[in-house]
Amino acid sequence: MAAVDMGIPTVRSGRPSLDGRPDTPLLVDRFGRVARDLRVSITEKCSLRCTYCMPEEGLPPIPQRDLLTVEEIVRVVRLAVEELGVHEVRFTGGEPLMRRELEQIIAGCHAAVPDTPLAITSNGIGLEHRAAALAAAGLGRVNISLDTVDKVGFATLTRRDRLDSVLAGIRAAAAAGLKPVKVNAVLMRQTLSGATDLLRWCLDNDCQLRFIEEMPLDADQEWARANMVTAAELLEVLRARFTLDPVGRADPAAPDERWLVDGGPATVGIIASVTRKFCGDCDRTRLTADGMLRSCLFSDEEFDLRHALRSGADDAELAAIWRGAMWNKWAGHGIDTAGFVPPERTMGAIGG
Ligand code: SAM
Ligand code: SF4
Repeated sequence: MAAVDMGIPTVRSGRPSLDGRPDTPLLVDRFGRVARDLRVSITEKCSLRCTYCMPEEGLPPIPQRDLLTVEEIVRVVRLAVEELGVHEVRFTGGEPLMRRELEQIIAGCHAAVPDTPLAITSNGIGLEHRAAALAAAGLGRVNISLDTVDKVGFATLTRRDRLDSVLAGIRAAAAAGLKPVKVNAVLMRQTLSGATDLLRWCLDNDCQLRFIEEMPLDADQEWARANMVTAAELLEVLRARFTLDPVGRADPAAPDERWLVDGGPATVGIIASVTRKFCGDCDRTRLTADGMLRSCLFSDEEFDLRHALRSGADDAELAAIWRGAMWNKWAGHGIDTAGFVPPERTMGAIGG
């Protein structure tokens, strides 16, 4: 197993170049894309150790002083919505439920931008006890990551025997009105044969399931293009038990293609993040838990918003840094090319 090294991405302080940028408040880039979907990571801590994401010992802790505070998060979310055209905000991690202040973060953001949908991507552990409070605070939707409904398979993949807690979390989310609950499953060879059971479980429990091709963002650096399970392979497995009719994408920026299951109305989605690159439609902008702006999961270039925030920058200065970070976004990753180098930060350290 390769040593875990979060590395030091290229961090730039100050204002990134805005040369050639059109005069618009929006987060545009040189390739005609507009970022409207903000992902905010709020912690590097996690209650699971999924092998495609975290090292067994967890990620190196972010010093408390470097973590954006509730107030700082609320300020940047307001700025993103009011000044930069962000339409949707999703909190992630690490595991967002590991941050005790999650309810405060949601309530603060909801008060600041009441018309903007707020969501979390979560492994669901502990959600059982917090779903109602989160919904009351203004949370609108949850995406739960669940790769298998086989107890042993779950414990092996996540290195924790917590399947029951995840399933309880999903049920609690639905009971709290956070519907439809979306379930995300990463395609792994060891759980592929259980994909049909997972789809059956999601159909029976009113969850919208999406599979995601595994990306080279695992801390253990064991991802290999030759071994990864592709969307095509999954379709073959699912078609042994269900009829699937293609229905395309929910909207052009949505990364998942969808299939009607057994004549519908339920669908299953697949995000072919590796075999069908969707960078051309990407509308994401990301903020790490330690306050770094990232324009892409796979780029090591980061812009230091935390430093600006804490040096007294006004909203106009913060907005200029953010616009510049996105203006300098590259065309896309090259996972399928020979020269591909994974980013220094792993998925858990960026926020998926
Ligand atoms: N802990 C939360 C969770 O698991 O939902 C939020 C953080 S997690 C990093 C966000 C999403 O990234 C999850 O849906 C997870 O399955 C996905 N993910 C993690 N590592 C991945 C990888 N190597 N390839 C594709 N998706 C990955
Ligand atoms: Fe934790 Fe989510 Fe990564 Fe799994 S995918 S280890 S739950 S951060």
